[in-house]
Amino acid sequence: MTASSAAAVRPRTGEALDPDAAISIRGLVKRYGDFVAVDGLDLDIRRGEIFALLGPNGAGKTTTVEICEGYRTQDAGAVHVLGENPSDGGRRWKAQLGIVLQSGAGDSQLTCRELLQAQASYYPDPRDPDEVLGLVGLTEKAKSRAKTLSGGQRRRLDVALGIVGRPTLLFLDEPTTGFDPEARRQFWSLIRSLRDLGTTMLLTTHYLDEAEALADRVGVIARGRLVEVAVPSALGGRETAPAVVSWHEDGARRSEATSFPTAFVRELAGRFQGEIPELSVARPTLEDVYLQMIGERS
Ligand code: ATP
Repeated sequence: MTASSAAAVRPRTGEALDPDAAISIRGLVKRYGDFVAVDGLDLDIRRGEIFALLGPNGAGKTTTVEICEGYRTQDAGAVHVLGENPSDGGRRWKAQLGIVLQSGAGDSQLTCRELLQAQASYYPDPRDPDEVLGLVGLTEKAKSRAKTLSGGQRRRLDVALGIVGRPTLLFLDEPTTGFDPEARRQFWSLIRSLRDLGTTMLLTTHYLDEAEALADRVGVIARGRLVEVAVPSALGGRETAPAVVSWHEDGARRSEATSFPTAFVRELAGRFQGEIPELSVARPTLEDVYLQMIGERS
């Protein structure tokens, strides 16, 4: 899919809400006094997908997500989450949601197992708390008080609390902040296994490698507006952007931007009559195109 075709499937204000989507948003507006934090946002998140919402600090991500969770109300626009308006969502609707907030219950005097048992008791069909501790790698901390956990372990506990209710839709707000690299990889595989079980996930993150590794689609939000929605490999026209071919020649690093890297490398190989010294071929990274998009709008 090209970036322009990805953008073309975006919904527009005035179109009907999508009844099949996990989350469907049209013309969402949220003001704080005179400040417009969300400014006419349209978005559909499909059932079963992992969708990453990217954007700089203050772009309106948390405001949008919290409206979807039913924690804030909008000033204009329509929102449906699992077929309901969040501000009218009852207990049955809430029981289908899992929420991992930016700051969780880490300071509690209760043990990890006690916290999970208490959380599980609110849901009709919860996961076994000990199984969930295993999933997030906290089995050894089952009897430890939450307040004694390290920062990364607290974040894992937050994730455990978010999934113990067996949610259909899981909101993850910057879930891996403070994780060490190994814990992040373990978390990614947990998220993939939840997707395999059919869980829809809306993820906000500032880690672009995380968005690239996990998300089926990414949406970039800036100044309360959605700039683009695409699969990570197509965002900002990445997959058709010129490639930069670099190599070493005559004691210096050389490079050439080209839309036909294969032909160019073949020509170079002919010139060198074999191996091209220190050859690399690079296309813009997700971070490159993201920073360009955000820069254009600041
Ligand atoms: P971050 O990446 O820093 O978490 P964000 O994209 O989640 O940012 P929001 O928290 O949605 O951004 O905030 C959007 C804008 O709305 C910011 O300018 C913020 O200061 C403002 N804002 C958010 N909540 C309130 C509030 N309760 N009262 C006034 N302004 C608010």
